Amino acid sequence: MNVFDLHTHSTASDGTLSPADLVRRAAKAGVQFLALTDHDTTAGLQEARDEAEQLNISLIAGCEISVTWNNRTIHVVGLNVDQNSSELQNGLQKLCEFRDWRAREIARRLAQHGIDNAFEGACEFAKGNLISRTHFAHFLVKHGYVSSVREVFKKFLIKNRPGYVSGQWAALDEVVGWIKNAGGQAVIAHPARYNLTRTKLLKLINDFKDAGGEGIEVVSGSHSRDEYFTMAEHAKQQELLASAGSDFHGPENPWIELGKLPELPVGCRPIWHNWDH
Ligand code: AMP
Ligand code: MN
Ligand code: MN
Ligand code: MN
Repeated sequence: MNVFDLHTHSTASDGTLSPADLVRRAAKAGVQFLALTDHDTTAGLQEARDEAEQLNISLIAGCEISVTWNNRTIHVVGLNVDQNSSELQNGLQKLCEFRDWRAREIARRLAQHGIDNAFEGACEFAKGNLISRTHFAHFLVKHGYVSSVREVFKKFLIKNRPGYVSGQWAALDEVVGWIKNAGGQAVIAHPARYNLTRTKLLKLINDFKDAGGEGIEVVSGSHSRDEYFTMAEHAKQQELLASAGSDFHGPENPWIELGKLPELPVGCRPIWHNWDH
């Protein structure tokens, strides 16, 4: 059992719990250090911080930023960022503008396949917050085009499928720069999820470190047990700090829960080793 959970989502991006509800659930599950890391936004942090103060747990200000690296989408988590950093906010704003444009484009492409009103439908789920493919997934499930969110990401919204639009996110060094400029630490999110060969992963780590990145997620809700150990080896050999995060999006996905992460494998240096919370 791990009292750290440094990767979670709320309704400010594509999670289904409000920031306050997320914090309450985390506290109940025994989490003592919770990072809220919504995609490309810090809009949920104030509400989360207020609730965390009430419950006497530490809220780590974070966000999970979308990066395009070598034509692939990579996620970089920023931890302990100053959300008032104008460089960070300007960067996030550009990403959100791309998200709005992309959402309309996704809808246009779905319409070519006979699926109408997807933009309005996805907006209903996004409720005025940032819009993501997850909101389109909920719309497609609701209207019976597929039976589950998982199935959406097999049949729609991905390469060579209806509704696919390629990501045009920010550059890796730019994003690491925003995070560092905001006083935070940059962490490669769920590195085992990108299906990179060992050589490519080492290249990513190398580019990331050159930009000033410090950590990788070793323990992640989207890693298998074997992957914890592979990523722990990379962390040790590449002298990166190790992070742990569930990537919780809501109670609908019962296989990923708050407060259930195992400890980091032995020999890892935790990203929190010098935090003074
Ligand atoms: P976006 O950042 O808008 O492109 O949306 C990416 C989000 O879609 C991820 O953060 C996940 O929450 C969700 N997602 C991507 N692939 C899958 C999948 N195979 N199953 C469930 N959710 C997924
Ligand atoms: Mn997500
Ligand atoms: Mn991610
Ligand atoms: Mn995430």
